[in-house]
Amino acid sequence: MNGWRSGRALGRSAKRWSHSDHTIPEKYQKFRTGHMDDALLPFGSWKEAYNQLQSRYHKQLAASVLYFGGTVLYLYSSGVIDLVLPPPYANDDQTPPSKWSKLKKWFTFESKLRDPSSATSSVVKELANLPDSIPYLIIGGGTASFAAFRSIRANDPKAKVLVISEEDYFPYMRPPLSKELWFSGSDLTKKLTFKQWNGRERTVFLEHEEFYIPLNKLMSTETGGVAVLKNQSVVKLDATERKAYLANGQTVSYDKCLIATGGKPKNIEPFVNADPDVQKRVILYRDIKDFKRLEEITRKAKSVTIVGGGFLGSELACALSGRSKLNKSNGSQLSLSLSNSDKLRTDYVVLAVGLEPNTELAETSSLEVDENFGGFRVNAELEARTNLWVAGDASCFYDTKLGRRRVEHHDHAVVSGRLAGENMTGAHKPYWHQSMFWSDLGPQVGYEAIGIVDSTLPTVGVFAKATEKDTPKAAAEQTNEGIRSEADEPVNALKPVPKPESSGAVTPRAPQSGDDFGKGIIFYLRNNIVVGIVLWNVFSRMHIARRVISEGKAYDDLNEVAKLFELHSDD
Ligand SMILES: Cc1cc2nc3c(=O)[nH]c(=O)nc-3n(C[C@H](O)[C@H](O)[C@H](O)COP(=O)(O)OP(=O)(O)OC[C@H]3O[C@@H](n4cnc5c(N)ncnc54)[C@H](O)[C@@H]3O)c2cc1C
Repeated sequence: MNGWRSGRALGRSAKRWSHSDHTIPEKYQKFRTGHMDDALLPFGSWKEAYNQLQSRYHKQLAASVLYFGGTVLYLYSSGVIDLVLPPPYANDDQTPPSKWSKLKKWFTFESKLRDPSSATSSVVKELANLPDSIPYLIIGGGTASFAAFRSIRANDPKAKVLVISEEDYFPYMRPPLSKELWFSGSDLTKKLTFKQWNGRERTVFLEHEEFYIPLNKLMSTETGGVAVLKNQSVVKLDATERKAYLANGQTVSYDKCLIATGGKPKNIEPFVNADPDVQKRVILYRDIKDFKRLEEITRKAKSVTIVGGGFLGSELACALSGRSKLNKSNGSQLSLSLSNSDKLRTDYVVLAVGLEPNTELAETSSLEVDENFGGFRVNAELEARTNLWVAGDASCFYDTKLGRRRVEHHDHAVVSGRLAGENMTGAHKPYWHQSMFWSDLGPQVGYEAIGIVDSTLPTVGVFAKATEKDTPKAAAEQTNEGIRSEADEPVNALKPVPKPESSGAVTPRAPQSGDDFGKGIIFYLRNNIVVGIVLWNVFSRMHIARRVISEGKAYDDLNEVAKLFELHSDD
C-alpha cells in the first residue's frame, strides 16, 4: 500500500515527547513543539512513495507553467501587457534607449509590432482610455499634425493634445520612403532608419516614443502633453457641437480641432475593378506599409513597372533600378497594354499617378471641398469653421500672395501645420510663408522648387555647367541636413536679395562642346511676373528664390535675375 501515515498512527507512544512520564497539562498543549511522531511515514516502500511524490510534483509544476503561460498569453493578446518596441530616435540629440526598452526587444515580435490587425486588442484597450473631451484634437498623425502639436505646445506649454491617427505608427516623415531608405542597407531599413546622402544616420520618426504621453495619463498630467490614439479614424465631425465621432461610435468633444488627414494615392481605371489576382500585383505607394511591401517584392520580383513620371515615380524608378534585375521572374506576370498599342509584361506595378486629398470627413460633416483643387476649403488663416482648422495636403487655402492653392509637399505640411497650431492658440495669422519642395533622384541629381510650378505656365530657363559640388550629396555634406525643408529657418535668417546689377556675379561664358549643363534655374511666369522657380542641382539658394517671388515684380531680363543665384560662380 502506498501513501503516508503519521508516526502516531503507527502506535508509537504519544507520550514519548515528554521526559517525565506524565502528560502535559492541557493549558500548555498549544505551545507544544513538533515531534518526530508527528512526521509522516510512507505506507509502502520509501522508493515507491518517493516516486509517487515526484510524479505529483511534476504534474503540479506542469499545471503551474501552463497556467502562468496561459495568463501571460491572455494578457498579451488582450493588450494589457504591451511588448511594443519604441521607434528609433529622431535626432542625434535624443536620449539613448533605456535598459527597459532594450530588454523589451527580447520579447518583441516584429509582426505583432507593426501589423495593425494584430494590434486590435490593444486598440480596444486604448479606446477605453479615450477622454470625453479634450482641449486640442488633431485628426491625422502625419507631418502637418506633428508641426501643429509642436507649435501648440510651444505657444501653450500645458496644452493637452490628442492625435487620432489611422496608422499604426507615431508621426513620421515620408520623403525618405522613396529616397534614402532604398540606399541605406537592410539592417538600417528594418529599423526604419536611413543614411542621409552625407552618411549621417537618422530615423523616419519625427519624435521618439518617449516624447508622447500615454492616453490614460493625458488628462491627469498637469503639464499636459501629446497622446496618439493609433489605428483609429475619425468618421464625422459636428463642427457646431465641437464633437468628433470615431468609427465605433465613440465621441470626443474638443475646444479646438485640426484636420490634417493628408491624402491617398490615386488609382487608375484598369486597376480599380481588376480581379484580386491583378490587384495583389499593384502597389499604391504612400506609407511605411507600402515601403515594406515593395521592399519585400523587390527581393523576389524580376520586373517592377512604375506608372507615372512625377517626382514620386521618378524617385522610385531611380531607387529601384538596381534592385530587381538580379531576380528571376516567377511565371505569371501582368500584361500592360499601352496607348501606342505596345504590350509590356511585368511582375508588379507601382502606381504613382498623383494624390487625392482625404476629404471623406467633408461629406459626413458638411464641410466645403474646393471644386478646382480638391481639399477642404479654408481661409487664409486655415480655418474651415470656427475652432476648426485644416493643414497639409488636405487643405485648400487662400495664399495672400498667390491666391487659392493646395500644396502636397513636406515643407508645406510643416509650414501650414505650424501656422494652424499658432492660430489654434489664438495667433490669427494669415498664410504668408512660401513653402518649398525638393526631390532627389539618388545622391547625384536633385531639385528644389517654390511657388507655382505649373507646366501650363510659360517658363524661362537659365542653365550652367555643373561641378561635383552641385549634387544633393554635396549639399547634405555642406549643410549636414538631408531633409531640405526650410520651414524651421527663422524669418530673419532670410537674406535680402541683392539688386541684379550690384550682385557682382560672374557673366556667363559661351558654351563649349562637352560642357555638362547640369544645373540651372527655371522661372515660371504669370502675366510676366515670376510666380514659381525650380532650382535644378542648385542648392542653398532657396531664400533668394523666395524673395524673388514675394517681390512679385516683372523683369525685362531674367538672365539678370539668374545672376542673383550665382549660377556661374563655380565655373
Ligand atoms: C513616398 C513619398 C515621398 C515624398 N517625398 C517628398 C519630397 O521629397 N519632398 C516633398 O516636399 N514632399 C514629399 N512628399 C510629400 C509629403 O510627404 C506630404 O506632402 C506630407 O506628408 C503631407 O503631410 P500631411 O500631414 O498633410 O499628410 P500625411 O503625412 O499623409 O498624414 C495624414 C495622416 O492622416 C491619417 N488620416 C487620414 N484620414 C484620417 C482620419 N479620418 N482619421 C484619422 N487619421 C486619418 C493618414 O492615415 C495619415 O497618417 C512625399 C510623399 C511620399 C508619399
